[in-house]
Amino acid sequence: MVVFRNGAKVVRSFKPDFVLIRQNLRDAGEDHKNLLLSLKFGGVPSINSINAIYNFQDKPWVFAHLMEVQKKMGKENFPLIEQSYFPNHKEMLSAPRYPCVFKIGHAHGGLGKIRVESNADFQDMASVVAVANTYCTTEPYIDAKFDIHIQKIGAMYKCFQRKSISGNWKTNTGSAMLEQTAMTERYKAWVDEVSSLFGGLDICAIEAIVDKNGSEHIIEVNDSALTLMGDSQEDDRRYIAELVAIKMQDNCHVQGVTRPMELTRGSSRQSLSGTMSSRGGSPTEDTSRLIMGETPIPGGSPSQQRRDSQASQSSSISGFSSASGTRRQPDESSQSSQPSAAQQKAPLFGRQTSVTTTNESTPGGGGGGGGDDTEDTMKNLRKTFAGIFGDM
Ligand code: ATP
Repeated sequence: MVVFRNGAKVVRSFKPDFVLIRQNLRDAGEDHKNLLLSLKFGGVPSINSINAIYNFQDKPWVFAHLMEVQKKMGKENFPLIEQSYFPNHKEMLSAPRYPCVFKIGHAHGGLGKIRVESNADFQDMASVVAVANTYCTTEPYIDAKFDIHIQKIGAMYKCFQRKSISGNWKTNTGSAMLEQTAMTERYKAWVDEVSSLFGGLDICAIEAIVDKNGSEHIIEVNDSALTLMGDSQEDDRRYIAELVAIKMQDNCHVQGVTRPMELTRGSSRQSLSGTMSSRGGSPTEDTSRLIMGETPIPGGSPSQQRRDSQASQSSSISGFSSASGTRRQPDESSQSSQPSAAQQKAPLFGRQTSVTTTNESTPGGGGGGGGDDTEDTMKNLRKTFAGIFGDM
């Protein structure tokens, strides 16, 4: 970590206790593989796992694994789009049918995706691939009725439909209408199967297109860098925070304390291993809201727009008002000098205090250094979770 202080360059090193990776490892013109390697080198636990993130460096690699899932589940049960892979431009002669979609190299957010209408256009695009110095995939263009997004965060499932309203064939570009829909057993089976790839994906999302005849075409899978959508995305952030807390409990040990850190209430595990969510929330939502209601949520001012949010991308969201994308607790507006009962309870990470206390009161709890280490760990934790909730 390089810091400039009074013009002097200060280099510090630190080891994170845990990392939540919400950014794509690679994108058009970006490659953070070297950082990922450093996390692997340092043995830092993370969500998704470093190994899983590593496997998401190349979309054709992920797609090849989806083809294996299809082989296992059958075409009917896992309707993956047909895709052709070209290691370079040389073999690119024509597509079996038009229009088709070129997906050049590894990029997100609609970048490098081109709709090609004819063989002449195909040849033109192949010449662009020649100078791009990367691979390319092609697939049939699907005349979409809408897109479906099936997301899984721990054991919390959600499904959304997205329809372009600006006429862009890429519904993740321009304006789109978003609606949360029921989570079906079929979609759950897809996402469950996919979440077992690469040693397990704690967080993942499947993107599929539904054509005018109602047929589904799975086009891709995203990892923990998935875009959160809709009005309930603050809930998703809380699920992610809970998942991180649970993983940290399993993976992080405070020096001088023999048992894993007690960061979460017992019900946290329960809320994330609960049954699947459907429209209107899951049976476990109340539990999780109760827990998370005790967690400080930023005010969600209009200036606090998030990069990871679909609602922040000028999308109009049908079915709910999503101007801020932030759901407030009922008593939040009445926050005054008198704390409410919920506020009086320790916040989720108020348990940091109890960890410190436990540590201090533990006989022989790591000597003088143990307290400082705990402080540092707790500072890191606070930062981590402030990051998740947007305070940083
Ligand atoms: P990421 O989700 O990682 O950001 P991306 O947005 O760059 O990926 P895709 O999700 O493959 O790439 O495509 C972007 C959008 O283009 C999709 O949301 C979908 O609306 C549209 N699209 C992609 N492939 C097809 C296709 N074969 N036929 C019709 N539309 C497609």
